[in-house]
Amino acid sequence: MPNDALAVEQQFPPPPPLSDDGGPSGDVTHILDGLNDRQLEAVTAPVGNMLVVAGAGSGKTRVLVHRIAWLVEAEGISPGGVLAVTFTNKAAAEMRGRVERLLERPTAGVFAAPARAMWVGTFHGIAHRLLRMHWQEAQLPQNFQILDADDQLRLVRRVMRSQNVDEQRWPVRQATWFINAQKDAGRRAKAVPNPDRDVFMRTHVEIYAAYEALCRQGGLVDFAELLLRSYEIWHEQTALLEHYQRRFRHLLVDEFQDTNGIQYAWLRALAGRSAKVWAVGDDDQSIYGWRGAKIENILSFQRDFPGVRAVRLEQNYRSTGTILRAANALIDNNAERLGKKLWTDAGAGSPILVYSAYNDLDEARFIAERTQRWIDDGGSATDIAVLYRSNAQSRVIEEAFLRLDIPYRIYGGLRFFERAEVRNALAYMRLVGERHSDIAFERVVNTPARGIGGKTLDAIRSIARSREVSMWQAAKEGIAEGLFSGRAQSAVGAFVKLIDTLAAETANCALHEIAEHCIEASGLLAHHAKEPGEQGVARRENLEELVTACRQFGGEMVLPLTPTGEEAEQVSELTEFLDQAALDSGDYQSGGPAAQMMTLHSAKGLEFPLVFMAGMEEGLFPDRRTEQEPGRLEEERRLAYVGITRAMQQLYFTHAESRRLRGVQTVSWPSRFLQEVPPECMEEIRMGGAVARQFRARSGGLADEDADESSLRIGQTVRHAKFGEGVVIQADGQGSRTRVQVNFAAVGAKWLMLAYANLEPVR
Ligand code: ATP
Ligand code: MG
Repeated sequence: MPNDALAVEQQFPPPPPLSDDGGPSGDVTHILDGLNDRQLEAVTAPVGNMLVVAGAGSGKTRVLVHRIAWLVEAEGISPGGVLAVTFTNKAAAEMRGRVERLLERPTAGVFAAPARAMWVGTFHGIAHRLLRMHWQEAQLPQNFQILDADDQLRLVRRVMRSQNVDEQRWPVRQATWFINAQKDAGRRAKAVPNPDRDVFMRTHVEIYAAYEALCRQGGLVDFAELLLRSYEIWHEQTALLEHYQRRFRHLLVDEFQDTNGIQYAWLRALAGRSAKVWAVGDDDQSIYGWRGAKIENILSFQRDFPGVRAVRLEQNYRSTGTILRAANALIDNNAERLGKKLWTDAGAGSPILVYSAYNDLDEARFIAERTQRWIDDGGSATDIAVLYRSNAQSRVIEEAFLRLDIPYRIYGGLRFFERAEVRNALAYMRLVGERHSDIAFERVVNTPARGIGGKTLDAIRSIARSREVSMWQAAKEGIAEGLFSGRAQSAVGAFVKLIDTLAAETANCALHEIAEHCIEASGLLAHHAKEPGEQGVARRENLEELVTACRQFGGEMVLPLTPTGEEAEQVSELTEFLDQAALDSGDYQSGGPAAQMMTLHSAKGLEFPLVFMAGMEEGLFPDRRTEQEPGRLEEERRLAYVGITRAMQQLYFTHAESRRLRGVQTVSWPSRFLQEVPPECMEEIRMGGAVARQFRARSGGLADEDADESSLRIGQTVRHAKFGEGVVIQADGQGSRTRVQVNFAAVGAKWLMLAYANLEPVR
């Protein structure tokens, strides 16, 4: 063996040894139980490259989990030699748990620990892990900080301002998108082709270059950078690559259709010539084309890896016959497909219910009431998912759930770790651990307000720039040299002292104690306590929730330490928590059973007995931008296919005739996707029927039970003696306390007590 190879082995110790009994355990029936023939074929295929392309709910994820167990138990592969990629951290945690349970039997308990040596995570999570372990090879400072999407946007804005770029002409979001797209294509600013092509290109490449420099200086790493940097180390650090190539002999990928260019390239490099790649995916569920995901990767795969075996799974185990039929018919409208059949031997089940709401409030109320009914009938809130195209739709639905007191949880949108108060608290925690984080410094130096204004901040920034130090350092030097005006001098001094004191007091504290202390001593808690109304309460609760999250941290790590200590942690628990918060935004949750609300994009891979697809309207879903971009309509349709196939037992489509979205009132037609589902699969719920009756029952006999025509219902036009004509848009309360909200043409929406309002139905 040549000397440098030896040196590498010493630098990076060999993979963990095989489990104690060293090889196949013989009894693998529990791994194969309950799999159909095709699934068995996939799970037990000889060691080699494999591609399973199959429709939704056909067991791809399940087969992948069983394959890992099979590799370990039947092929005697060390779990430490397995790397599995999934799409969300939640899916990764679930996958790890399922593999562990499959391997954990009384006769083979020894496997439980080694199973943890496996690497399971998202591409981003794994890339992050690599960079933390090999920061030197990646030419990063040890304490590099991850920028989440919001941090990144702020930083790009800062760069643009410093370059005097006109934000009206060149929106910050567009510039950020440009940077990320370049990184996803593996290109640094200096490698962008034709930078002088036109003014668009020139401007953006300049922004990209300046942003790149700023990130390098500050040790900042955005999401796209995680991938790009890890990809680059494969090329620049051959010894490191070879080490991992020797270690990971088996690479498994779920949701393969959504890997983008750089992820695929990263994977290919890691696989090298001899590792085996085992991928599952569904071309009909490719929904990240706009983020660079390439369906062609499915085709390239067959070319790039030798001897790829293909297995097709065609039986769906998730949904009723009706739901599956609807999904198949819808996706049949796409021309670009590999083409698959999907069948089920489950019964037809109940029809998909369609509700045409008068407006978005009415739609939300309907969804909340149906959810309540499901729970009243003995179902659990966790069975239920409300899916929508855009995060902006969630607020109204949330309010309807709050009114009925139905517990719910939101994925995505303004996610827990993205809420301003939580981000503030995290910034304090970050400063305590890492004073030189400018991002954290800027965020909280005057939050809550402590008299440090824009001018003082500019002064700190300019000291930092000219002396090439962090803002923290600049603030300290500024105070020492008396560079600030009188009041600012003491305000900045107090802030510096606050952080130093916090750090000293929490030096030996557990993570949740640090959080608790930061929240209190910083004045954040007191600040929100003064805030009037619901909002203040919610913010305080979120801060308390953060303490809970810290307390729970550690149990659910996606990529835990290996028992061999091979990847001994080099960062503190605090840093690790903050990283996780940045990477994990969507996934954090605690508490009891709750209905889930999320975008269609984040529902990928999940399943729920009861699913609502809300906002099935032209312009919203499919999104209005699809008109201009070729291929987008097909991608929207795949998204609809993803949505429909999440449902196990009952699916609802709802749409509203008019809605207020991002401040604009729109009137819209039902989505074309509703027309693409066979009419026999659907049943319409009439507004004047079941719903009106329900509403009357809750109105405590105020409306005439028998006279359908004269009773009040949502969407009905009424006349009020003072306000004139209006439309009933929602109702709540019971009996004599029933209130209705009426949107009056003359005076806008008003809540009225039904018993006193004297509303006269008009038509
Ligand atoms: P998606 O495309 O949505 O990611 P998938 O192909 O990954 O779906 P899974 O989530 O693995 O499908 O499986 C769908 C459901 O069917 C799961 O509840 C799974 O446990 C169940 N299932 C899969 N195969 C079988 C089987 N052979 N017998 C019984 N249930 C099965
Ligand atoms: Mg799956």
